[in-house]
Amino acid sequence: MSISPTNGSKVALVTGATRGIGLETVRQLAQAGVHTLLAGRDRSRAVEAALKLQGEGLPVEAIALDVTDTASIQAAVQEVARRHGRLDILVNNAGIVAEDKRQTKPSLQPLQAWRETFETNLFGVVATTQAFLPLLHSAPAARIVNVSSVLGSLGAHSDPASPIYEFKGIPAYNASKSAVNSWTVHLAYELRGTPIKVNAVHPGYVKTDMNAGEGEIDIPTGAKTSVSMALLDADGPTGGYFHLGETLPW
Ligand code: NAP
Repeated sequence: MSISPTNGSKVALVTGATRGIGLETVRQLAQAGVHTLLAGRDRSRAVEAALKLQGEGLPVEAIALDVTDTASIQAAVQEVARRHGRLDILVNNAGIVAEDKRQTKPSLQPLQAWRETFETNLFGVVATTQAFLPLLHSAPAARIVNVSSVLGSLGAHSDPASPIYEFKGIPAYNASKSAVNSWTVHLAYELRGTPIKVNAVHPGYVKTDMNAGEGEIDIPTGAKTSVSMALLDADGPTGGYFHLGETLPW
């Protein structure tokens, strides 16, 4: 598909952007003037989604990227290197729920569902970030946004007064997001002497396919935290966990 020149604007890549919060994150970053790569595991659906946003006049291009496939990640890195030579913003948004949501006993979710969940939600984030790190270092002050969830908060899960206290049915998903939080803290520590900032976000309980359209907030509001952490200026935080401007308990 045609590529518009970046004209010196920042370059962002959002994983899992064919629908839901990822697609809207692409739209809002592009609306802010960022040249945004809409990454999807299915190239044709990524192209279709990117064409729609280009039709809205936005600087968006499609790229194929399956976060569970090393060859796909490597090919995406090479494509970004060739087209742009750097990456200013990486939003690790792709995520799945692989468990049976009707199950109420955490101990009864099958191990296979744990493996599938971690393959995408944790290993996919780590692998994609490791692979793009050289291109992120090539940008003047890169931002990494890890899309976590409040369901990854051990503080909230262990507090009987928390609204999520009884939400224990999808333990692999919840633990994968706790692990994303831990990875965020570790990577931010490693990068503390650089201009790169790394943060975890909770989008909110958003009306997407992941929740069969149920939720407390619409998709545009659900994308706001990722976008604001992607566009942080130099005095913004790193190694934190946020939702709509508020800090969450780990
Ligand atoms: P969604 O509507 O189900 O969309 C998930 C996206 O991830 C889809 O584009 C999907 O691609 C993509 N994806 C799945 N596996 C992938 C892989 N291996 N490689 C690349 N892309 C992959 O979910 P959402 O609600 O927008 O969720 C986005 C993020 O927010 C997730 O990390 C989720 O855990 C997090 N989150 C959501 C909520 C909520 O209430 N919705 C709350 C807290 C956190 P396909 O289109 O190809 O399937």
